[in-house]
Amino acid sequence: MTTLRAVKGMNDVLPEALPRWRRVEAAFRAITARHGYAEVRTPIVEPTQLFIRSIGEATDIVEKEMYTFVDKGDDMLTLRPEGTASAVRAYIEHAVHGREPISKWSYLGPMFRRERPARGRYRQFWQAGVECFGDGGPFVDAEMIDMVVTLLGELGVQDLEVLVNSLGSGDTRDRYREALTAHLAPHRDRLSEDSQRRLASNPLRILDSKSPADQELCAGAPDLVDFLGPEDRAHFEGLQGALRALGTPFRVAPRLVRGLDYYSRTLFEVQGRGGELGAQNTLCGGGRYDGLVRTLGGPDVPSIGFAMGIERILLLTGGADTAPTVDVAVAVADASLREEALVLLRDLRAAGLVADGDLRGGSLKSQLRRAADKLGARAVLVLGPAESERGVVQLKDLAAHSQSEIPRAEVVLRVQALVRESK
Ligand code: AMP
Repeated sequence: MTTLRAVKGMNDVLPEALPRWRRVEAAFRAITARHGYAEVRTPIVEPTQLFIRSIGEATDIVEKEMYTFVDKGDDMLTLRPEGTASAVRAYIEHAVHGREPISKWSYLGPMFRRERPARGRYRQFWQAGVECFGDGGPFVDAEMIDMVVTLLGELGVQDLEVLVNSLGSGDTRDRYREALTAHLAPHRDRLSEDSQRRLASNPLRILDSKSPADQELCAGAPDLVDFLGPEDRAHFEGLQGALRALGTPFRVAPRLVRGLDYYSRTLFEVQGRGGELGAQNTLCGGGRYDGLVRTLGGPDVPSIGFAMGIERILLLTGGADTAPTVDVAVAVADASLREEALVLLRDLRAAGLVADGDLRGGSLKSQLRRAADKLGARAVLVLGPAESERGVVQLKDLAAHSQSEIPRAEVVLRVQALVRESK
């Protein structure tokens, strides 16, 4: 029989790697909470139409990367490729705009895209992100970018670059689209196959192309920022001024477009360098999507969000895997004492201690070895028949290499004191 393996591009995270993940998640949760974001949890599966209508038909995600299936009720469903569409759907569905003028949501969870797997690019990957509904910016935009930079700094990522651009709004994009098409059309034959197709459907996406020929042709293309109307320009300048006031370094990247259609005005990316990151160096991407709530059937609510890839941050921050350790282990010198051990373990845990024991009935020696080597226990409590008769337990302090006998009734307090003093 063939051995079953995980789906290509989808990874297991084993327990020893989890502490590194938790550290990133905890830092994300803490900083978003300090900024007034509250966590939202939406389903992992959504109607396919949600992503088509929000991300856009002529995007890589919708054209090639979605995990879409027809369920037994003939509904067309898709595993979410990103978090914003679902958040906006929920925001509209629960009429949140009617209850509060500004809503700040955060989320953290797996996303699914059928991309070509590589280091830092997976088919199931984790994103932590936020959405802020109801504030047209640009101060909230700057605040969000600064929050990401602060978070990455707290996680030890110093070598990074913040790129910002503005896509403008209203007819800015239409006018730019025309100019870009006019620039590229004479060289149509030299564009990659994808870009030839996109020249008609979504020329802005050509700026994002990885093909060297496309990049060369785009090098002389007009800049988006030159097409901004006065209000968009003021917004973009407001963002830059606010970033300067916050002391957040950034660079204007006039060709930054990003792969989702719903963006308007502010766009940003945070790129990292070094570590094991390699080519997939975009840690975080975000932008404003002022028209999306309305596009999906809601009111006119300006919004902005970002998402960062947890795996990419882990590639950059490194750190060793660590096995979980326990405060105290319980071992029995005789298998007949296992019920007593069970009760003792429960009492220790009830007092808040991390306690574990091997109750398979093996030798005392193997139980002690496991307590020291595998569980990393600070102390071991050994139950023996003679001690049990006398109502005492043997306490082995593994750090001090000492042992003592203590009355059963005092065990929990004594272990608590020992653990407290070693922390
Ligand atoms: P996006 O939703 O495309 O704007 O991506 C936001 C962030 O999610 C990126 O900057 C990456 O850190 C991460 N990300 C996107 N796609 C993948 C993927 N296939 N594998 C791992 N991380 C990803």
